[in-house]
Amino acid sequence: MNDASELHRTLVRQLRRLDLDPETMPSPASWRKLLDILSTTYTEADDERYTLERSIEVSSREMRGLHEVLSRQAFQDPLTGLPNRKALIRHLDQSLAACARTGQGLAVLYVDLDGFKQVNDSLGHAVGDELLVLASQRIRACLRPEDVVARLGGDEFVVVCPNVYDSMVVPAIAARIGSQLAAPFPIGEHDAVVSASIGLATTTDGSASAENLLRQADLAMYEAKVGGKARTAIFDESMQKVVDTRFSVRNALGRAITGRELRVLYQPLVSLADERVIGVEALVRWERPGFGLLSPDAFIPIAEESPLISAVDCWVLQEACARGGQWCEAGASIAVNLSARTLQQDDIVRTLTQTLTKYSIPPNRLTMEITETALLSGTGTAQLNLGRLRELGVNLSIDDFGTGHSSLSQLQQTDVDVLKIDQSFVSTMDHDASSAAIVSAIITLGHALGLTLVAEGVERPAQARLLREQGCDSAQGWLFGRPLEPEAIDKAFGLSLPEFSLSQRP
Ligand code: C2E
Ligand code: MG
Ligand code: MG
Repeated sequence: MNDASELHRTLVRQLRRLDLDPETMPSPASWRKLLDILSTTYTEADDERYTLERSIEVSSREMRGLHEVLSRQAFQDPLTGLPNRKALIRHLDQSLAACARTGQGLAVLYVDLDGFKQVNDSLGHAVGDELLVLASQRIRACLRPEDVVARLGGDEFVVVCPNVYDSMVVPAIAARIGSQLAAPFPIGEHDAVVSASIGLATTTDGSASAENLLRQADLAMYEAKVGGKARTAIFDESMQKVVDTRFSVRNALGRAITGRELRVLYQPLVSLADERVIGVEALVRWERPGFGLLSPDAFIPIAEESPLISAVDCWVLQEACARGGQWCEAGASIAVNLSARTLQQDDIVRTLTQTLTKYSIPPNRLTMEITETALLSGTGTAQLNLGRLRELGVNLSIDDFGTGHSSLSQLQQTDVDVLKIDQSFVSTMDHDASSAAIVSAIITLGHALGLTLVAEGVERPAQARLLREQGCDSAQGWLFGRPLEPEAIDKAFGLSLPEFSLSQRP
């Protein structure tokens, strides 16, 4: 429609048909202008519409992409790209349903890296991250196509193996994973070394829930850890019993403190030079109704998993100070064990100060025994508390020395007074030359650092003789006295009091 007058004529015809007056309508020239305006407007509108349509298309494509990324992220571990816990549970639910339908076995492997924290702490988080990525690839390479590996977080991976017909298949996969992860990881200029503790749980009828099967594999993994690491343990019901026992001990122990079921026995500490009693160590016992007298091994490790241990430690401290005032007046010292967790308590030094004041015990009569590992790997609060204890004038002793992981330089930096040589060395020193050499080296080292040496677990005269020859200061052990009721200690001090008080008072 290029010709404006043709257009005009057409319009006039149309207007007449509509009963409108063409004389009032614009001239052909004006129509041309109007047409141009209309045409430009329509073209622009078209362009805009096109642009709008395009952008809607792009946005919806982007939205779809974004949705995919988000749903991937919700089910994917961002570091390794493996399925995460949420995805694992979903997959495990589906696998369990398939297992229930088909009756074909399903196995779960819970893989935890041993020594990963050390790699992270010593070589840095970037190396740690790379190790996790490489570990995930190594695990993947050990699996069958139908197996799935997920990362739960940290250094924990879970493998789901469906269609298990042969009972040897999954242990063989676990063995492959174990050996692959034990090989060094070359990262940059480092060779990072870890190993794997693996727990295995299986079901043949799919009746377990995903969470339950995972928990069983986790328990088995824990067994592998405590059994010495770098190994695979298979879940069995006895592991569940151990957990139940732990749970019931924890519950009952909470009541034991208020119910006065705890007791303290005191083991004499003797000077090796003349075998006189120069102090005692407070050792807790639990008179548990229905179970008899329990030794600390049966409940202290469980208490140490929760704040209960601090309640136990503080109760023992209070009891020992209440009972041992006269022993301290006679010049003896009282040693009390302090677990790592208690040492990290903000208010432990205040509690200790109040207890000493309440029972008029001079701080230098009290020795706090702390294990090597607790002492050297303590957090900021623990280190702060150690400093405060020093300021207070309380003695510090490293318990079970030789069994932890302290380096000599750490020992040099740690401000303690006493080293207690672990009984594992003492018990064999009279028939094993290397144990005797270790004990001798510890004594020389301790003395060089100005510390007092105590040998633990002396049972035979030959051990006492050797220790004396090597210059050890004092000893504890059944040879000199088992952990005793406080009345027996009263008696011991009553008998040796005159001579004792003369030579031992500062
Ligand atoms: P520990 O502090 O190293 O205490 C020495 C342990 O060796 C005691 O065991 C003692 O009875 C035992 N022992 C002493 N002489 C001999 C000996 O000649 N031969 C043998 N075979 N053993 C001997 P116990 O009383 O069973 O205590 C075990 C551990 O429990 C203690 O080791 C200590 O680490 C912990 N413990 C005890 N009481 C407390 C407490 O109140 N708080 C905390 N946190 N831990 C405690
Ligand atoms: Mg001790
Ligand atoms: Mg000890």
